[in-house]
Amino acid sequence: MTVQRPISGTAGSRPRRSQVAPLIMLREVKTTCCYCGVGCGVLATTDGDHVIAVRGDPDHPANRGKLCSKGSTLHLTTGLAGRALYPMQRRERGGALERARWSNTLDGLAARFATTIEQHGPDSVGFYISGQLLTEDYYVFNKLAKGLIGTNNVDTNSRLCMSSAVTGYKQTLGADAPPACYEDIDHAGCLFIAGSNTAWAHPVLYRRIEAAREANPAMKMIVVDPRRTTTAEAADLFLQILPGTDVALFNGMLHVMLWEGLVDSAYIDAHTEGFAALKEKLRDYTPAFVAECCGISVVDLVQAATWFATPGSTGATLSLYCQGLNQSSSGTAKNAALINLHLATGQIGKPGAGPFSLTGQPNAMGGREVGGMANLLPGHREVSNAAHRAEVASLWGIDSLPPTPGKTAVEMFEAVARGEIKLLWIACTNPAQSMPDQRLIREALGKAELVVLQEASLDTETAGYADVILPAAAWAEKEGTVTNSERRITRLHTVVAPPGEARADWAIVVDFARRLEARMGRAGSTLFPYCEAEDIFDEHRETTRGRDLDIAGLSYATLDASGPQQWPFPEGATTGRARLYEDGKFPTGNGRARFALTLYKPVAEAADARYPFRLNTGRLRDQWHGMSRTGTVAQLFGHVPEPSIALHPTDLARRGLKSGDLVEVNSRRGKLLIHATAADDVRPGQAFIPMHWGSRYLGGRDQAGVNALTVSVFDPHSKQPELKHAAVRITPAALPWRLAAFVYADAAGHRSAGGLINALKPVTQDFPFAVSVPFGRERPGVLLRLAEASTPDASTLDRIDALLGLDGDAVMRYDDRRRGIGRRVATVDGRLLGVRLSGAAADLAAEVWLKSWLEQGEPLIALGALLLSPSALPPSGSVVRGAIVCNCCNVSAFEIDSTLSQLPGTPAARLAGLQSQLRCGTECGSCLPELRKRVAAMSEAPATRAAA
Ligand code: SF4
Repeated sequence: MTVQRPISGTAGSRPRRSQVAPLIMLREVKTTCCYCGVGCGVLATTDGDHVIAVRGDPDHPANRGKLCSKGSTLHLTTGLAGRALYPMQRRERGGALERARWSNTLDGLAARFATTIEQHGPDSVGFYISGQLLTEDYYVFNKLAKGLIGTNNVDTNSRLCMSSAVTGYKQTLGADAPPACYEDIDHAGCLFIAGSNTAWAHPVLYRRIEAAREANPAMKMIVVDPRRTTTAEAADLFLQILPGTDVALFNGMLHVMLWEGLVDSAYIDAHTEGFAALKEKLRDYTPAFVAECCGISVVDLVQAATWFATPGSTGATLSLYCQGLNQSSSGTAKNAALINLHLATGQIGKPGAGPFSLTGQPNAMGGREVGGMANLLPGHREVSNAAHRAEVASLWGIDSLPPTPGKTAVEMFEAVARGEIKLLWIACTNPAQSMPDQRLIREALGKAELVVLQEASLDTETAGYADVILPAAAWAEKEGTVTNSERRITRLHTVVAPPGEARADWAIVVDFARRLEARMGRAGSTLFPYCEAEDIFDEHRETTRGRDLDIAGLSYATLDASGPQQWPFPEGATTGRARLYEDGKFPTGNGRARFALTLYKPVAEAADARYPFRLNTGRLRDQWHGMSRTGTVAQLFGHVPEPSIALHPTDLARRGLKSGDLVEVNSRRGKLLIHATAADDVRPGQAFIPMHWGSRYLGGRDQAGVNALTVSVFDPHSKQPELKHAAVRITPAALPWRLAAFVYADAAGHRSAGGLINALKPVTQDFPFAVSVPFGRERPGVLLRLAEASTPDASTLDRIDALLGLDGDAVMRYDDRRRGIGRRVATVDGRLLGVRLSGAAADLAAEVWLKSWLEQGEPLIALGALLLSPSALPPSGSVVRGAIVCNCCNVSAFEIDSTLSQLPGTPAARLAGLQSQLRCGTECGSCLPELRKRVAAMSEAPATRAAA
């Protein structure tokens, strides 16, 4: 599915023969974005060797040509810096990785696995895989573990993402199947968004929400979140609940609906069961109790219940929800309590209505379709169901499957730490960054007898623990299928070949599995007879025949010819099903949906006198997960340039802190040094750290990233850990010596910011606090921050300067060794190349404007003596641009606010003026919510004020 077009010559012109340049054939190849579960279609332009550009696929129903700030920079992630190109092994723990040959490596692994399985049983090995794998990759991993080895120890980072949504659906509706679709946004009269900052986490879907609200101004949008997020800012009603109180809120809303006669008794009677038992329990959830418990007003509670049950304009209420409900020790109950609201009001199975979980990862759903989790089997079957096991064994041509569910994510690492799982195979995920309670995870990785890492990147935190690295193909190099949040399967085509000796994930697994079959003495034909990804898809398709997700009518050819399709798509179908349960029949045995008896339970770890703050984690707009991909694109750091913990200004003041101070955050499991930022989007007593900051960017001695703090307590049904809440203590960090340096990577002798960050690691990891993050756009640089209790010795500083390229004779220097102050400035052609400032925090005061000066390429002539004795005040006339709000057009907060101050008119006219003058918000649109917020904050135009 490619389009070929020549690029030489100019449209409409006919160059003379002598002017004709060599014809470069560019192709556009259909693929999908590899980040979130919106599943946007992408057209990737390639010259055959490189991905040159991307654009949204206008024919893809998920995005209709749009991409967000992450998706639109996908082509910038395809460089070779940091790529795993060859198999690599360490001779000993802590030793260097050495290049190896594929055949030797896989033979060695097959022998090691066969011996371990023979000596200690099949459950002595485990596979921890990823919701970013394609369905075909997932399928063969699952078959390898369950079909060949005979262990259910295969789980995935989807356990951290969607497990509670799945158990919520299964408990109530009977199947792991989101009943709604994206089109329902257009038909909703009330949007109920809970635990989801959709504007940042699913931006293209949020564009659709904005469009639907514009088309239907009567639509109500309710947002439930402990933080006043960008999504919450735009709500008609924002319920800023206390962390973890969602079940109380949903039960309270149902209580109000019952009291006010707003439930749909006819629907309840005809299509559900269990309502009477739930109704009994709801007596306890009085408005007064719920308002107190959730920290909201009774008025707002009643308003939310009323709008949900009587969505005036279209009669339909659609719920959108994500990790705020899922990543919780009562995540299943949160999901089920919300679904209870839909069942009680009949808001399901019709256009614009239904509970609709937003998938975090691009293919979490595809992984579940093939049963790639510890409790699942292919075709939405269960390990614990004997008939299901027999069906799959028959399909696979084996005698039986292991009957005991395997270890889920947290359990798997606990088993590794105990020595029960001896060999751990990790694929396409970064548990040393993303799993909660990093102390446990890193201890487990250290204790494992063998850690195999199948990865595209060498720069992940987990790579440091790997004994063997198997180089995997990355985005644009793979072929297969993925399923997005609305059950839509998209086929991905290979855009470019994998570099070096990297291989498709499924091909690595199949090659290993065949070698293991031989070692295990398996007679007869191979269980892995696949030559191409399509062979695997075809086998997967057969496992779904007759099941709720039946795709017997789909093939690669159908997907190519007709485009992405929703399941179910049984044989003979011509289109998939947009929404489920329109007939009121549910896959529960008796056809009735089940009200779940959901009772409110507080968070697992209460705040107390020792740990008084309630820490929440979540996403940034322009970063993805552990940043192994987005972290390679310097411009994606423009919006939020470096790690920080957000605290309410009153909390900062009470502790004698100010925005920008370095603090120590302690939980019962670990500590983290990080800068504090004043933010009134968190309530007093609460704190927020983005989930992305692992020890690669927020490093230093014993630093393990944000998940050093989080808890591994998990929901009893979904086994999904409570990443969204931990009790922490926050104190000032006693590290008075500071360093801030910013240099262009090429000036320090590196081709990428990642290369310079890697080079700095051996030094930075000796400091208790170290931040190293990319900055810039076309010319990337690295911002380095260090903190220490006392001034480091001169040789350490010399080493840092040398690594930063700040050590030559041409570098300007200033040192006051008695006071521990030092400065280095490198220049070329009268412009800054790099700066190092060190000393007390006050000695770094010029950092902000000096960095801005460097990034803007301002001439140094205007600075004079300020260069080596810089003050906090920027030179007059200079501008500090601040955060980049519009990444596509490189427009900063300063430019937006300056322009806005001159723009008269209505908010809509002023937004249009901004867009026409600065072009911000005219490309991917991810910044539009923030632009609207800035417009609203300056609600009266100067001209209007003057007239008044
Ligand atoms: Fe990718 Fe953004 Fe679309 Fe998500 S919304 S799939 S991150 S382009």
